[in-house]
Amino acid sequence: MRKVIVAVVGRPNVGKSTLFNTIAGKQISIVQDTPGVTRDRIYAEGNWLNYYFTMVDTGGIEPISDDVLLKQMRSQAELAIETADVIIFVTDVKSGVVDADYEVAEMLRRSKKPIVLCVNKVDSIKKYGNDIYEFYQLGLGEPFPVSAANHLGLGDLLDEVVKHFPKEGLEEEEDGTLKIALIGKPNVGKSSLTNKLLGENRVIVSDIAGTTRDAIDTEVTYNGTPYIFIDTAGLRRKGKVTEDIERYSVIRTVAAVDRADICIVLIDAVEGITDGDTRIAGIAHESGKGVIIAVNKWDLVEKNDKTMQEFTKQLKEKFAYMDYAEYLFISAETGQRIHKIYELVNMIHDNQVMRIKTGVLNEILARATAMKQPPSDKGKRLKLFYITQASVAPPTFVIFVNDRELMHFSYTRYIENQIRENFGFRGTPIRFIIRERG
Ligand code: GDP
Ligand code: GDP
Repeated sequence: MRKVIVAVVGRPNVGKSTLFNTIAGKQISIVQDTPGVTRDRIYAEGNWLNYYFTMVDTGGIEPISDDVLLKQMRSQAELAIETADVIIFVTDVKSGVVDADYEVAEMLRRSKKPIVLCVNKVDSIKKYGNDIYEFYQLGLGEPFPVSAANHLGLGDLLDEVVKHFPKEGLEEEEDGTLKIALIGKPNVGKSSLTNKLLGENRVIVSDIAGTTRDAIDTEVTYNGTPYIFIDTAGLRRKGKVTEDIERYSVIRTVAAVDRADICIVLIDAVEGITDGDTRIAGIAHESGKGVIIAVNKWDLVEKNDKTMQEFTKQLKEKFAYMDYAEYLFISAETGQRIHKIYELVNMIHDNQVMRIKTGVLNEILARATAMKQPPSDKGKRLKLFYITQASVAPPTFVIFVNDRELMHFSYTRYIENQIRENFGFRGTPIRFIIRERG
């Protein structure tokens, strides 16, 4: 089941980021050490009651003139319409309804997507209560007064948002077919790879970053087994601003990764590993999905017998926080090592769904703690009582300890390494839940 995507749109300065951060709250730092992802975050996990969703901030508008502003707002709204299940349209009670609001409201209304109209900066209902009525003019139904800065009205707003969530959840036809998202910055070779995998030129490939294309799901059968490749290349927007394209591809990536079992992060062998790559790989990492880092355009690299080793070393450095990822050097152009993708995908999936018996896990835990003494603080030593596997994909383990505070990241990491040494879990992150037992 994939997560519902909620997008936040609105003019600059109406308080989108404030609202975004307020709703995301501390959930923003799910994984603290993912470089490139935590700063300037444009997506985050949110939840309300028992509803879980991925929230995206389509913002990032730098208004230069009214013209530019309107154009950028249009593409922002388009992006939201394309990727989101529910859209929160944020307006500002202090500025009232302005022309740009009408424009965007019209676009959103036509999209037939569920829209929740938020009127922000209503810091006091007494003072601003009457100013809310003019927002009915936008034709988006009831305006929800909110003060994002003061955490007011958020409950009612979110009640309305989750009302629009699909009743049965977003169940996709789960027939066991593995879904693989091809992600990576523009021009890295996502469509070319899809084409190569498909064996015929069904996707239009172009040299120009940001050419009009549609994202498609491609089903490929290999050795009698079907696989679905989710291509995130579809760049509808012909954005000129680099940051703009970047943001756009990040949001698309989040949506695709959400639906996938395994992600293939493509890196351009000629360009080397860039910040954009780190950011995109970080999305895969945080999602808990399986990861293959595929260095593409390998045919263009001048090689000697050390080239691959050297590149691998760089990968290990840059992606140290996701050292479970599998590496692959391919050429979407020549097809070199493309079939390896299927082998890796199958292997990773086996690892994702692997279950380890509790008895075996506890033997490993006992040995690990005997080999390396758990840390202590202020005279109190960490005790690890018991470990059991709670779920798969990603494999998740619950460890019962005497005091959670004492379970430092580095010791969890040590336990993870012990588990990996024994069972591999190659290609998939593994997670730990630390519980206290008296
Ligand atoms: P964005 O450009 O839409 O992302 O807007 P920001 O979240 O950056 O907010 C723009 C300005 O509005 C900032 O100075 C915020 O502190 C302020 N702001 C945001 N929410 C509220 C609110 O609920 N009440 C008031 N009075 N100011 C707010
Ligand atoms: P996307 O934006 O990630 O979908 O990238 P494309 O598939 O459109 O590829 C961008 C450009 O790189 C196109 O000109 C492709 O022909 C070229 N390209 C993609 N993969 C390879 C490769 O493995 N080798 C070479 N030589 N060129 C490639």
